[in-house]
Amino acid sequence: MATATADKLTTELMGILGAKKPENIFPRLKALELLDMCGRCCGTGHYSYNAMTGTTCFGCQGRQFLMPKVTRNLVEAVRAKWTAEFAAEYHAKLAADAASRKRVESARGMYLASRTVKALQAGCEAARERGELVGRYWQHECEWEKRNMPEAAARRSELYTIQKYIDKALEGVVGAKEWDKATRSYKPADWTAIDARLAPLLAQFEALDSQTV
Ligand SMILES: [Zn+2]
Repeated sequence: MATATADKLTTELMGILGAKKPENIFPRLKALELLDMCGRCCGTGHYSYNAMTGTTCFGCQGRQFLMPKVTRNLVEAVRAKWTAEFAAEYHAKLAADAASRKRVESARGMYLASRTVKALQAGCEAARERGELVGRYWQHECEWEKRNMPEAAARRSELYTIQKYIDKALEGVVGAKEWDKATRSYKPADWTAIDARLAPLLAQFEALDSQTV
């Protein structure tokens, strides 16, 4: 009986929050500051170090908070705080985060996807079809590029250097997590912050690459 009531309250909670899945409740309650602080790590997400998981707290899996018991009181507190305005702000932040994540994740492949590299590849391919390029050694292609597309060839090496800096800046970002030196553990990637860190490199890359038409 108690479970049926809890299920009903959870369904009601999802309705108020516009949550399609039960797992959407947790992040929304976090934004509303209605989660319970993890008592094991006192809300730090970290506990004693071990080789497997670093210092990530077992109690909350590093999330710092725990899902509170779903009661009538909680449902009413959520109803009062989750206003249309709050929801709009929450979803705007989510969308901005998703856009940042997309930019960060595509940054690793920028060099290969660049207009400059594509133009050089297309140039070499056409030359090979015309019979100007024989053999399949990259040296032949590099020489052909330098002779026939010197500006793009020079740009290519600069773009390659910027890509190395980008890769370096993304060291420690694995999947949706990033390594936190201070706590010696992975934490959920802060896409907005990583995006901001990469921004000057991405701008430099784009400015150079856009010279290839
Ligand atoms: Zn904890």
